[in-house]
Amino acid sequence: MKRSSILIIYTGGTIGMKTDEATGALVPFDFSGIYEEFPSLKRLKVDLEVLTIKPPIDSSNVSTENWVDMARLIRDNYNLYDGFVVLHGTDTMSYSAAALSFMLENLSKPVIFTGSQIPIGILRTDGRENLITAIEIAGAHNEKGEPLVPEVALYFQNKLMRGNRTTKFSAEALNAFASFNYTALADVGVNIQYNTSAIMPYSAEKNSEFYISESLCNDIVVVKLFPGIRPATLRSMLLESGARGVVLETYGAGNAPTSEWFVDLVKEAIDRGVVVVNISQCKDGMVQMHLYETGLALQEAGVVSGQDMTIEAAVTKLMYVLGKNLPLSETLQLMRTPLRGEFTM
Ligand code: ASP
Repeated sequence: MKRSSILIIYTGGTIGMKTDEATGALVPFDFSGIYEEFPSLKRLKVDLEVLTIKPPIDSSNVSTENWVDMARLIRDNYNLYDGFVVLHGTDTMSYSAAALSFMLENLSKPVIFTGSQIPIGILRTDGRENLITAIEIAGAHNEKGEPLVPEVALYFQNKLMRGNRTTKFSAEALNAFASFNYTALADVGVNIQYNTSAIMPYSAEKNSEFYISESLCNDIVVVKLFPGIRPATLRSMLLESGARGVVLETYGAGNAPTSEWFVDLVKEAIDRGVVVVNISQCKDGMVQMHLYETGLALQEAGVVSGQDMTIEAAVTKLMYVLGKNLPLSETLQLMRTPLRGEFTM
């Protein structure tokens, strides 16, 4: 079996912290010294290089510009490596993984996001296992040398998940991420069990056609419904904010109030060309606007079903699709089509 070459892109976050021996304070860990810190990595059949985004950031500060930087780093190194591991703070890792899944066009190499809840330099860290297994997955290939996971994925606590299906659901547990609506791409125990039928198939042709989309539109508003929301609040978010895209977080199977003022405001936004996507506040399950009168009114107003998309996928997909500046009908068509396996049809 050939050795894989992996580029680790360190963007910041808890995983990159260790205790300063002298002061006892948490200080950034220098990933360029990765082999000295973890000599056991030499036993993996991979060659590693590390690039650090300057300055490394707490992921709560991540911006669309950072996503463009990450995408460019992958593009500039695409032909030099077999796979990529992106070390990222956990807070917004699902947003970044979803964004990159859209921006990396014709991707056919592994881009594996990971991080940790406990700094890598702390004895009880979860970062060491997350890092080592993410590297192993990024380098995994079959006898023909084809990568086993040629897509953007997120590895955390024994599970490999499609990046744009994940959500950080716990600020405490070590298994902080879940993919509620899509099966794991791999389960990790004594062995790594790849769920091949759930993973994007490898395509050799795509490899030569890799490029990145850099244009993201962040004129987006997320409206999380709650009983008692005032017409003036909704009006300012839908109509006065200048939003080109709205993610409407509705109840249950995609339901919202049937009050005339509510439906009229949504209709007015849509008539003005705003793209409104309906996703559920429930993490598990699917929007089905035809089920209840309270969903049907939205469907008839022209709201796009977000199916079982996560909030992270819905926001970043809107940014990506609106960033293309296509005619409205084509924009709506892309929003209704799963582009990277981000929702179930
Ligand atoms: N605030 C940190 C970050 O997201 C938390 C973490 O990495 O777990 O960058």
